[in-house]
Amino acid sequence: MASLFAGTQFYIPPTCERCGKTEDECVCTAEEKAADEAAKQKQANRLPPEKQTARVQIEKRKGGRKATVISGLTAQANDLQDLLAQLQTVCGTGGTVKSNDDLVELQGDHAEAIRKKLAEIGYRVK
Ligand SMILES: [Zn+2]
Repeated sequence: MASLFAGTQFYIPPTCERCGKTEDECVCTAEEKAADEAAKQKQANRLPPEKQTARVQIEKRKGGRKATVISGLTAQANDLQDLLAQLQTVCGTGGTVKSNDDLVELQGDHAEAIRKKLAEIGYRVK
């Protein structure tokens, strides 16, 4: 006997995850779908701050300058650019994200202000 369900009312046409329309009606581009999927994946990789521990250290740079370096927070689990922006506002200084190394660095010694801000956001701080 052939399959009982082929061509019957049990067949449900696939729908687009992005707009919810059937594939025939969907006008989403492949780029839009890919961007959506990437954003979803990014969100799935995020961790709540209270499950992460940040380590704050002062490092000396050439010419005796100091930098405050935050490690322990990964670019995958956090929006480090957003975090940097928040810390820059608190410290009134410039900084940079080194996402390859999962580091956030701010110019100058701002360990106390940064520890306070990180704790305020909800991170555990070492
Ligand atoms: Zn669609």
